[in-house]
Amino acid sequence: MSKFLDKKLESLVPYTPGEQPKMKKLIKLNTNELPYELPKSVVEKITQKISTLNRYSDPEASELSEAIANEFGVQRECVYTGNGSDEVLAFIFQALCENGAAFADLTYGFYSVFAELYGVNKKIIPLEEDFSINLKKYSNLKETIFIANPNAPTTLALSSSEIETFVVDNPQTLVVIDEAYVKFGAESCVELTKKYDNILIVGTFSKSYGLAGARLGYAIGDKELIKDLNLVKFSFNPYNTNTLTQKAGVSVLEESEYFAKCVEKICNTRDKFIEEIRKLGFVCADSKANFVFTKHEELSGEYLQNKLRENQIIVRRFDNNRIKDYLRITVGTEEEMETLLNSLKDIVGEK
Ligand SMILES: *Cc1c(COP(=O)(O)O)cnc(C)c1O
Repeated sequence: MSKFLDKKLESLVPYTPGEQPKMKKLIKLNTNELPYELPKSVVEKITQKISTLNRYSDPEASELSEAIANEFGVQRECVYTGNGSDEVLAFIFQALCENGAAFADLTYGFYSVFAELYGVNKKIIPLEEDFSINLKKYSNLKETIFIANPNAPTTLALSSSEIETFVVDNPQTLVVIDEAYVKFGAESCVELTKKYDNILIVGTFSKSYGLAGARLGYAIGDKELIKDLNLVKFSFNPYNTNTLTQKAGVSVLEESEYFAKCVEKICNTRDKFIEEIRKLGFVCADSKANFVFTKHEELSGEYLQNKLRENQIIVRRFDNNRIKDYLRITVGTEEEMETLLNSLKDIVGEK
């Protein structure tokens, strides 16, 4: 670090993104992307916009916000768009966490990083022994609550009725539900935003709409909450979503059926894969996401991860004692998962 760095940032530990390997032939199951390429129709619509890049993007992201509002059946004023949901979450930590932020010990790593970055007090609430979230432990908090639903990396989800009960019982607490993986098997809480002003949904186009590289996220909530997010955005970067990304978002929503089929394929592949690895001695909960979270009864996480890497397959593992033997494996194409399964059979057989 330079001698000019602000003291407040000296101890900041940044988020570690999953590796984006330069080698093409690796099987990449480490960052929960959709493994399928975009349909031609989407590519063509985005391409048509390239010649307009001499102009700034629409700061209101009007067409896109309208499309998101339609998709979710909410009013346009209840939709906010951002440069990936990471940016949306960052703005929430900056603007809506005056009394701190509460979240689980095992959840999306960025919550903790954003709290550090913006000087927000953290209240860490450990998950239960089985990795489930006990909402009772979040009752009567003054902090803004962040829940990834389904949770990452645990793949477990709360029902929308459990969340509704909590939101009703805690009207003074803002509850942020991060629905990055919701389409892979959990219930969305978007409907609740029409009834309650203390729930804010954050979503992304990175996982179920195949736009990880476009950087597009959104929030849906009471229009006053959306105004708060716009206050930060228009004080920071009014053009946070670029022209191509806005068009990409509109275009994938026009192909909803295609992406619904992709999601269905992933879920089927996932469920078959879980069944197979259980036979090999892996412990694995039923997953509500596009990844599985699993450990082997005998082999360490580090050993498995290294062995897979030798076989050109990359998966994610976390530096946390509670889950050091777990692997988080993104569900890829059917062929990729078959290759992975064969590798695992070899590795488990060897030992
Ligand atoms: C991937 C992910 C995000 C970030 O999504 P982007 O829109 O790509 O920034 C947010 N929350 C969770 C839980 C995620 O897994």
